[in-house]
Amino acid sequence: MPITVGIDVLQKASEKNYAVGAFNFNNMETLQAILEAASELDAPVIVEASEGAVKYAGASMLFNMVQALASQISIPVVLHLDHGKDFSLIMTALRAGFTSVMIDASSFPFEENIRQTKRIVDIAHAMGVSVEAELGTLKGIEDSVSVDERNATLINPQQAVTFVSETGVDYLAPAVGTSHGAFKYKGESRIDYERLKEVKKLTKMPLVLHGASGVPESIVEKAERFGAQLKGAKGVSDEVLQEAVTCGINKVNTDTDLRIATVAAIREVLANHPQEIDPRKILGPARTAMKEVVKHRIGLLGSTGKA
Ligand SMILES: [Zn+2]
Repeated sequence: MPITVGIDVLQKASEKNYAVGAFNFNNMETLQAILEAASELDAPVIVEASEGAVKYAGASMLFNMVQALASQISIPVVLHLDHGKDFSLIMTALRAGFTSVMIDASSFPFEENIRQTKRIVDIAHAMGVSVEAELGTLKGIEDSVSVDERNATLINPQQAVTFVSETGVDYLAPAVGTSHGAFKYKGESRIDYERLKEVKKLTKMPLVLHGASGVPESIVEKAERFGAQLKGAKGVSDEVLQEAVTCGINKVNTDTDLRIATVAAIREVLANHPQEIDPRKILGPARTAMKEVVKHRIGLLGSTGKA
């Protein structure tokens, strides 16, 4: 299939109450792992590139790799720009052919977030491209955090309504207690489900969960067995993730889990085969490991068979 526009897969997911996996990539092996896994599960999928990925590989290289692989399979594949913080970066992605972009102006005051988001929405919609924006600050919330601090950090559901109607954005990433990276929490992961349900009820639009990697213990343990230092790495449990989908999440971002799976597999090969110098024999097992992670994640989200 040709690359699909973001809202086409996420509107369906929002109506039917499941989530589509959104996986970060910046090289061929990762992209192949994601698309093979999704294709075998007959699931729609979003592949996303961060600013770092665009700088590393180039927007047109990323687009052409996705187009080449997507044309060989029959599931919808969306190419999304993750955390576009810079106007020219978003224009680069739009020009390259991305079918979804995120404008992340969440660090600015509310009115400025609206202004920057609307500017991107106007341009992207004129090109037939969907837009994601973020409201609130992504930060791990612990039990000890006060109500005031919680309200200052997490999304305000009433503000979300104003934000959506003034910007015309297609899907929204609400800050509901998750944070980025492999070291998210000291205790258990906390998502403010009530707040999430309220945002869904008021906006009725597709919602996005960032900072959602699971950081599975078995993979962390394997990486450490072969020399990685990941003490304290912790993510969002499978149960918490599924509850978030039940509460209205329709796009779940995953980056860290693929990184850890890659590192564990590469370290294992290098430790067991110190004479190996063929990059294919080193990166191939990483691709296989990432594919397993993607399949597990898609299985949790309920998008299997929804292509
Ligand atoms: Zn994010």
